[in-house]
Amino acid sequence: MSTLKLRRITRCLTDLIYPRFCTLCYKPIPDEFAARRDCDLCEGCIRGLTFSAGFSCQRCGFFRPLERLGCHICELRRYHFERTWVLGEYANHLKRAVLAIKSSSGRPLANALGALLSKRVRLDIEYYDEPIDVVIPVPTHWKRRLVRRGSSVDIIAKQIASALSVRCPDRFLKVTRIACKQGTLDAASRRINVKDLFAIRQKKRMHAYRGKSVLLVDDIMTSGATLNELSLLLLRNGVRQVRCATVARSAA
Ligand SMILES: [Zn+2]
Ligand SMILES: [Zn+2]
Repeated sequence: MSTLKLRRITRCLTDLIYPRFCTLCYKPIPDEFAARRDCDLCEGCIRGLTFSAGFSCQRCGFFRPLERLGCHICELRRYHFERTWVLGEYANHLKRAVLAIKSSSGRPLANALGALLSKRVRLDIEYYDEPIDVVIPVPTHWKRRLVRRGSSVDIIAKQIASALSVRCPDRFLKVTRIACKQGTLDAASRRINVKDLFAIRQKKRMHAYRGKSVLLVDDIMTSGATLNELSLLLLRNGVRQVRCATVARSAA
């Protein structure tokens, strides 16, 4: 019996004893619906979180591009990663959810968003996309981790790695200095802000990922400057291919 099936059976038994509540609106989740889902969100919240007007670019996740396989944003910015999976646009329900997971009490919601995003990635990998060898979360400076008591991005990355049955090494990358928050800057300043911001913390383990395909995970992608900088760092150190998964994509 696969681990996934075993986890589902255990979950069904637990649901009989402890009814489940939606981690976003706190309403009870009907038993029948809870049994079909791998995450603690009600049907209404899932619809709200995953609804986005128009389609997103497969390369950079930007919503409403002119063409499906590439867009004017990709051409302008020359991304080093090859594609991006996005749960939805950074607005309404999803914007509230992304802000909520950054707080110290946001762990259950981060788990639920991770489960939704991992389903999206897994379906593509199973049917037509190339396999992923390792999942790496975008790192957070240790001072910010201390304030937030951990990182929601780590939780989401581990959910995806578990769904794909691949490794997700702990703190493989590091942040070298405290930078300004990307969301507060314009596009040009964001690129300067993240220049040489990251480094490989576990250099001895780098050889294990040479020639491999990496999935970088973040909670929000704005201009893509952070994911681009990290992609370049990994490619320069021998990684073959970088793809990205992010909970939300903003319009900037
Ligand atoms: Zn709900
Ligand atoms: Zn694009």
